[in-house]
Amino acid sequence: MNKNLDKDAWIKLGAQINENRQKCINKAKKWKFDTVATHGLYDLNQALSLNNGSIMEPVYLSPAQAYTNSAEMEAALSYQMPTWCYSRIANPSTFFLEETAALLETYGSDIEASCNATSSGMSAIRTATDPFLVDDPNFPNPNIVTSSQVYGGTFQQFWIRRHKEQGIDVRWVKNPMDIDEWKSKIDENSRFLYGEFPSNPAVSIFDIEKIAKLAHEFQIPLIVDSTCASPALTRPLVHGADIVVHSASKVMGGSGTSIAGLIIARKNLISKIGSDEMRADFAIWGKLWPFRDNGPALSPMSAIMILNDIRSLRMRIAQMSDSTMKLAKFLETHPKINKVYYPGLKSFPNHNLAKKYMRLVDSDENKYGYMLAIEIKEKTPNGHINTHKFYDKLDMAWRATDLGRVKTVATLNAISTHQQQGEEGRALSAIKPSTCRISCGIENSDDIIADIAQALDAI
Ligand SMILES: *Cc1c(COP(=O)(O)O)cnc(C)c1O
Repeated sequence: MNKNLDKDAWIKLGAQINENRQKCINKAKKWKFDTVATHGLYDLNQALSLNNGSIMEPVYLSPAQAYTNSAEMEAALSYQMPTWCYSRIANPSTFFLEETAALLETYGSDIEASCNATSSGMSAIRTATDPFLVDDPNFPNPNIVTSSQVYGGTFQQFWIRRHKEQGIDVRWVKNPMDIDEWKSKIDENSRFLYGEFPSNPAVSIFDIEKIAKLAHEFQIPLIVDSTCASPALTRPLVHGADIVVHSASKVMGGSGTSIAGLIIARKNLISKIGSDEMRADFAIWGKLWPFRDNGPALSPMSAIMILNDIRSLRMRIAQMSDSTMKLAKFLETHPKINKVYYPGLKSFPNHNLAKKYMRLVDSDENKYGYMLAIEIKEKTPNGHINTHKFYDKLDMAWRATDLGRVKTVATLNAISTHQQQGEEGRALSAIKPSTCRISCGIENSDDIIADIAQALDAI
């Protein structure tokens, strides 16, 4: 502690801290995925200097950071040296999660990215998209071009909050595999392209590389919600996307203790909207400015909970994917099932594209994630009697609106996640009354299949 340091000295000290941090990043960039997930940037040096040598990252519940003298405070609050300052802006515990997430989303590439953790997946989507929708006289009447096969909350945020309340034109791409449909909806007032990979709950996919290229032809970014894949399977930034958003409440935080979101953005992203500072480091710029002013900060406790779960992400994804594949095969030939949607099945319309994009990291194995959707045979096209009978009979699998959990969860989307968007909206998202989404947990697959089988027997 040196109360005599002046502002320049603090700035110099800050530069040194940044240099050391970059060294840690460079070291972590050489590690394998599981090692990055386990250690991130928290090393012996940090443990000794910050945390009495504790081998696990500290939970800093403190709201604010104290400064040695006025010169340090001035340097820190003008963002001229690293600081966390106040937990609505940043927090050291949250920082460990953010650094790890940025490293995992860029794993296996030399892409530089940073991350901003938010209070929920929905706030991540809001925080990631707001800066592209600001007034710009050069491009009046902003519009969003987005896959229509998105999570119910995202549909509501875009359609009700953005379109109906704010008058922003939202253009739905009904078949995200169709490049021409995307093209036909983009014009010079389009601000970004948006898609889910794979989508919740229809598990539809799109060609990330082609859509990123298309976005860049129009000088706009591609934003991908990669919640249902996770970086253990698919890393959209590596395929050209500019920003990835996650609901870390799902598989990233698989044991189910927290609601959280993540925005991971490549540095120097493409956007004709916004300032040079914004493009240079979107996630950190967002954190220091609009996020600070809007306030969707993540609790440091939740940040550490999510970080703890991320350490086992790859292992969980491997086992959950294997179980889901077994369940998909069982259901595909089941007489009471109309259709199974799972990217791993040969019958999946875009199975070859799924093969290209979905691979267990650090392996040669294609794996396709933990989520499948089924349509149960009904007597009438819009019937749901058998579907509800099956659903009510589930014994071990939870009836809940959740996914990516260590416990198997089944969801009837038409009456839950996608209830509020109405019949027309559900048709856009390819959701029928007989659609049931199943998210396989880490239980033994025999027990998962047995539970689903006995519930089907009850129809
Ligand atoms: C759950 C979910 C969200 C919203 O995340 P919250 O953490 O619940 O706010 C966004 N996108 C997808 C794909 C989701 O499954």
